[in-house]
Amino acid sequence: MIIFGSRATHLKSEQLRNAVCPHCENRGHMTASVYGRHAHVFWIPFFPMGNTGVLECQHCHKGFKPKDLPEKARLEYKNFRGTVRTPIWKFSGLGLVALLITWGFYSNKMTEEKVKELVENPMMFDTYTFKTEANYYSTFRVLEVFKDSIYVNYNDYETDKKSGLRKIDIDQNYQGDIFVLTNDDLKAMHESGKIEDIERDK
Ligand SMILES: [Zn+2]
Repeated sequence: MIIFGSRATHLKSEQLRNAVCPHCENRGHMTASVYGRHAHVFWIPFFPMGNTGVLECQHCHKGFKPKDLPEKARLEYKNFRGTVRTPIWKFSGLGLVALLITWGFYSNKMTEEKVKELVENPMMFDTYTFKTEANYYSTFRVLEVFKDSIYVNYNDYETDKKSGLRKIDIDQNYQGDIFVLTNDDLKAMHESGKIEDIERDK
């Protein structure tokens, strides 16, 4: 299976009106073509890797490289080559990566804002995802909300990956003791970056 590599595609062809074929010496039968190479990853074009030009005489069917042409014809070829544009789709992968990075920043920012707002106004049944001392992830649920503190139930389990949270966030895991967290405790937790996320309406 090819994961990454490079590929050339045809970009543009044009008949050179004045060029003389170096082989059969007929005028106006040279067709110039430009091929653009691009790097691909899983067949998604990532970025262009430069262009190659070839010429073919339609009269004697001989092929040439641009450097094989006499000076006048080479100039005509250069003019044509100046009109070849790299299509934007050859940058698809780069664009996709930029989009993902932007989306990542944006969604992080949204989570941060949501957490800040919910920490300041805790509600019953909020589920907090937090980082433990050992950098594991676990959760606690809010049972009751008072003016200066909340009662919470800690999850009996923790997980080393965020993706494992869905598995441990189930009712049976919240059967332990009830703890009190003051508003200041919550604030300190939030300020030290321990609170990863908060879910409401479960
Ligand atoms: Zn020819």
